[in-house]
Amino acid sequence: MRSIDVHAHLTPQCFIRAMQAGQAWHGIQPGTMRIAPRAVWTPEQRLADMNSLGVDVHVVSTGAAFYYYDGDATTVAAMHRECNDEVHQMTIDYPDRFKGLAQIPMQEPATAIAELDRAVNQRGLVGAMINDTANGRTYDEPEFLPLWKAAEQMGALMFIHQQGGDTLVTPRLNRYHLANTIGNLVDRAVTFASFVFGGVMDKCPDLKICLAHGGGYTCYGIGRMDRGWQVRSEARVNIQQPPSAYLKKFYYDCLTHSEAALRYLIDTVGIDRVVFGTDWPADMAIDWPVSWVLGLQSLTQEEKEAILWKNLEKLLGI
Ligand SMILES: [Zn+2]
Repeated sequence: MRSIDVHAHLTPQCFIRAMQAGQAWHGIQPGTMRIAPRAVWTPEQRLADMNSLGVDVHVVSTGAAFYYYDGDATTVAAMHRECNDEVHQMTIDYPDRFKGLAQIPMQEPATAIAELDRAVNQRGLVGAMINDTANGRTYDEPEFLPLWKAAEQMGALMFIHQQGGDTLVTPRLNRYHLANTIGNLVDRAVTFASFVFGGVMDKCPDLKICLAHGGGYTCYGIGRMDRGWQVRSEARVNIQQPPSAYLKKFYYDCLTHSEAALRYLIDTVGIDRVVFGTDWPADMAIDWPVSWVLGLQSLTQEEKEAILWKNLEKLLGI
């Protein structure tokens, strides 16, 4: 069966070459970033691993370590262009195996729009991967609205993915890997809420957003968000419908590490909104992702096909 993975990261070879040569790369000094063993793999080594996993297509995103939203916008824009051009080259060399998500400099929305436009309309990438916030600014802030409008007009997918260990849990309890195992899920629920309560989804009804890690705690917490909307006027400032009415406006990857949670996600948002995402090559990835989906007892064959490839084929037009 075909499979398309929307959550598959890249440590770009242009960065690795510079580090191995002992050279700075767009302001990153050698030795300052940890490089995981599989992260140095070439596209050909990646393809061999995809073959062993039974994954046909990686929608490649340069890793979250390369966001650098707190850096100088001009420097980071140049870094992101080089990352995006390398992803573009992978899609040219192996058009049936790789699609790409861009990096865009969110510290400067106008520059982010320009790079998204270049990546999508000139380089054929399918959207961008972005953090849950940009330097603490959430996505209901008005400065981001032109970006959402532009992405909507381009048909670009916005894939929401936290930056490493920098989540809302980090300042509270930065031990036991909780910044990742709980923090990713907290951040995703807040991001869903910022888009919905901020009125972005009403202003951009065709904006395509995919929330990584199954949308985090969004589905489990939606009842309380609805209750808040009913009883508190400040929750209704921007929206006329309860938050749950917006669940089906988003896409969610299947990366829950729990069959019960995935079943609940499907039952809450609809099977047409759940897509295949594995987090390759992270240690928190699903080890044998295609086998995992195919082996789930509570999903029908049609649901497995929708998750593994049909939904992404339609969403990305591939
Ligand atoms: Zn990831």
